[in-house]
Amino acid sequence: MLEILGRVVVILIVVLVALLVSLLLLCFVMLRTNRIFFPNFVLFIVSLFYEILCRLLSFFRVDPTLIDRVSVEMRNALNYADFAVTDPRERILLLPQCIRSTDCPAKLNSIDGFHCTECGRCAIGELSALSREAGIKMYTSPGGTFTERILMRSKPKAVVGVSCYPNLYEGLLKAKLMGVPAQGVPLSVSGCVNTTVDCEEIIKKCKI
Ligand code: SF4
Repeated sequence: MLEILGRVVVILIVVLVALLVSLLLLCFVMLRTNRIFFPNFVLFIVSLFYEILCRLLSFFRVDPTLIDRVSVEMRNALNYADFAVTDPRERILLLPQCIRSTDCPAKLNSIDGFHCTECGRCAIGELSALSREAGIKMYTSPGGTFTERILMRSKPKAVVGVSCYPNLYEGLLKAKLMGVPAQGVPLSVSGCVNTTVDCEEIIKKCKI
């Protein structure tokens, strides 16, 4: 009996690994061809096996953010229609604090994050001016829990989030659970400090 059980477990593991490797290959194809296949199915499997998929990628010495990149593109595509019908003035723009200059004079407010003074030392100043012009509320958040609080307080109709791919993956998932259609824009250069963004791309996304 134990032997049969052991065989069943081995077969299940082999099938699972084969499924996950096939999924990773599909992700490669999607990135290469810029096309999206079976987004709901792929996102469902990714959410179930996220950790294992990242470990598999590391095992094959492939950039583990591949799974985040593909997931973000798929979520953006799936959310696009619901996002596009919202009034741009009822959307918010969420930025991570890592874009701030190390000499940033902005003060942190416990309710809505950093208050940019538009000193010109980083891209947030430009984004602050552009989003004000477009009538879009912008927030610079010091972290994930803070971001959730901003979302709950401001109750936006839609959101544009900017971050590194792994944080975007998580953020878009949370926004989906909160029922807020979101679009993610990755940082141009990621890291913990002095990260950079494409301001034009962000504002274009905000005004869709
Ligand atoms: S532009 Fe704003 S966020 Fe950037 S360094 Fe100046 S005050 Fe800080």
